[in-house]
Amino acid sequence: MKAMVYRGPYKVRVEEKPDPRIEHPNDAIVRVELAAICGSDLHLYHGMIPDTRIGHTFGHEFIGRVEAVGSSVQTLKPGDRVMVPFNIFCGTCFFCARGLYSNCHNVNANATALGGIYGYSHTAGGFDGGQAEMVRVPFADVGPTIIPEWLSDDDALMLTDAFATGYFGAQLGDISEGDTVVVFGAGPVGLAAARSSWLMGAGRVIVIDHLDYRLAKAREFAFAETHNFAHHDDVVVLLKKLTGHLGADVAIDAVGAEADGNLTQHITSAKLKLQGGSPIALNWAIDGVRKGGNISVMGAYGPLFSAVKFGDALNKGLTLRMNQAPVKRQWPRLFEHIRAGLISPGDMITHRIPLDAIAEGYHMFSSKLDDCIKPVIVPGA
Ligand SMILES: [Zn+2]
Ligand SMILES: [Zn+2]
Repeated sequence: MKAMVYRGPYKVRVEEKPDPRIEHPNDAIVRVELAAICGSDLHLYHGMIPDTRIGHTFGHEFIGRVEAVGSSVQTLKPGDRVMVPFNIFCGTCFFCARGLYSNCHNVNANATALGGIYGYSHTAGGFDGGQAEMVRVPFADVGPTIIPEWLSDDDALMLTDAFATGYFGAQLGDISEGDTVVVFGAGPVGLAAARSSWLMGAGRVIVIDHLDYRLAKAREFAFAETHNFAHHDDVVVLLKKLTGHLGADVAIDAVGAEADGNLTQHITSAKLKLQGGSPIALNWAIDGVRKGGNISVMGAYGPLFSAVKFGDALNKGLTLRMNQAPVKRQWPRLFEHIRAGLISPGDMITHRIPLDAIAEGYHMFSSKLDDCIKPVIVPGA
């Protein structure tokens, strides 16, 4: 089969790889129909994630048709069309039993913190991902869900990570009626968090980014008030001015470790690999939220981190919550919201690219070219 393959930082290409096989009785093989490139794939592409091996296939957001199932699979059969959550999880361990699917204890021999993620390096279990013609799906009775006939493919694809992760980010913000919510980052997760904040009672939603085309999308898709931090000397001062000098009630960090704007952090992370990126957006959140406020962290960070304003967070009495989203847990509510016409996650998609052109797709997305917000790979095109 053809698959996207990592060849080193900033180098990906399409290669022939052996077809994936059933390796366990509860595996399924899925023929990929749509696969997205996630903002967090860019951390892999930039060589920021430890143990990203040459030959690895990325892609944790995909939908497709079941090609084959192992002997113990009960809920799926060949021909079923499925949406597959980005987390790989067993469904029965201590953590899965508590809904912490992203922290499953049985899927990642390399870590005790993180569970398994498709196509996200050996740090996340070493599972090949869905930016390919086919993919092996472990625990086929647990993660994948048959796509309901009323759900569009684009909406289903956006629930496998991006939109569901943003929704989870808003949930962790514990938004109260009328709250002012500030979202850092207007990529797909930030857009989804902003849009979802309204569903949870926000009275005001502010989105901060430095790219005007993404802020335009935040106004159109998430009905947010937007500010370009490149036009302001100090984002925190701006936020204070916007909020009667108290700060926002809730801040959502949808940027993560590759925030633009701090050279020292860039050197310690990307160059020296002393830490997995820069906590700029996180520190803006700590400074920009009011005393007693909530911070939800959805951006992806490496395991080790320094220069976070932890003492300020303590002294302000902040609540910080974070996790990789256990997206399947969000699906029932998101299905209801989609059926009610309240959200349309697929509207985040801006580009469709054949698998053969995936190198150009990564380059475009990474370099923020052509107003790209969410690129989708179409293996059959
Ligand atoms: Zn993702
Ligand atoms: Zn588990």
